[in-house]
Amino acid sequence: MTVRLYFEDPYLQRFEARIEASREGEAGWEVALDRTCFYPEGGGQPSDRGTLGEARVAHVYEQDGQIWHVLTGAPPDGSISAQIDWERRFDHMQQHTGQHLLSAVALGRLGAQTLSFHLGAESSTIDLDLAGLTDDTCHALEDEANRLVMASIPVRAYVVEPDDIPRLNLRKPPTKGEQTRVVEISGVDLSPCGGTHVRSTAEIGLIKVRRAERYKGGTRLEFLCGWRALRDYQWKHAAISQLARELSVADRDLIEAVHRLQAFEREARQEAEHARRELLIREAAALQQEAQLFGSLRVIARSFADRPAAEVKHLGGLLVAEPGTVALLATQAPAPRLFFLRSPEVELDMRELLRRVTARFGGGGGGRPEAAEGGGMAAAAIPDALAWAVGQLRSEVS
Ligand SMILES: [Zn+2]
Repeated sequence: MTVRLYFEDPYLQRFEARIEASREGEAGWEVALDRTCFYPEGGGQPSDRGTLGEARVAHVYEQDGQIWHVLTGAPPDGSISAQIDWERRFDHMQQHTGQHLLSAVALGRLGAQTLSFHLGAESSTIDLDLAGLTDDTCHALEDEANRLVMASIPVRAYVVEPDDIPRLNLRKPPTKGEQTRVVEISGVDLSPCGGTHVRSTAEIGLIKVRRAERYKGGTRLEFLCGWRALRDYQWKHAAISQLARELSVADRDLIEAVHRLQAFEREARQEAEHARRELLIREAAALQQEAQLFGSLRVIARSFADRPAAEVKHLGGLLVAEPGTVALLATQAPAPRLFFLRSPEVELDMRELLRRVTARFGGGGGGRPEAAEGGGMAAAAIPDALAWAVGQLRSEVS
């Protein structure tokens, strides 16, 4: 059994220890010490990192009462000096103690039990057994938790005997075993926990609930504590200040300014679309003037060098709205496309015409007798393909 120095003093960062065992694991060398202040992953809290002598500790886990330190290099021998990554550990202590406080407030205010806790690399979550938390409720939880932070309440961890547990009014039942380690936030919370915590709620720093979402019939609260909450505030403040500056408004008027921009953008888009349609109608009228007459059939053939396919198709639709018209349109880029269309009463098969064109010039396509489209041929072949299709129509009609 490894002696857990972090139970006695979670603020201990350096220690001397003797290597008791080492073995080669899947992730590298693992060593067990007679004593350690490295916290092994568990209870929602990730493991510590740091150094054992010259070797780096990448991960720490517990197995049958023994704490194993997973190293990135070769294991040292005998006695070593070890050090934990204090910035990482203190961050975990802030998030973890903040979790105790939020869970206690959720229980006290809403009667909501915390079912699980996860301390992530970016943010942490608790899952409450209560659904339908409003924004106002979340703000009230956040305010109360921060009030308890500012009240600077002592946090203590100690071991209690099994006989004492029934009298203790623990927030959640202990798992099992003979002795139970409890963490007490005086007058606020008492719960069994084997993690590491700060010594006063003041050291948690700011607590910010970032999101509340439905999760498995309850609510998942995402939150940040301490330095994480401050860093989050810093980048968001910078982002909002920059946006407000760029839009020349006060930061409190930013949402309204963005709504105005969105409305303006919507209107501009509608106007551009309207203008584009008007232009296509005019273009269609001009193309009608250039129609070739084969008896009573009006044939309009036009190849564009580079035009969006949807626009070419739209233009074709406008042209064949005029009775007695066949429109053979094409674009060479961004991808070669052919559109063969006719007015509803014209008795010619556009799909068949397209089939003959692609058989001769390459590519493929399909459609209906009144409207067919194709592609896949060489762009350079398109003008010849259109001219050939016009010739086919001429001979078919005469
Ligand atoms: Zn805890």
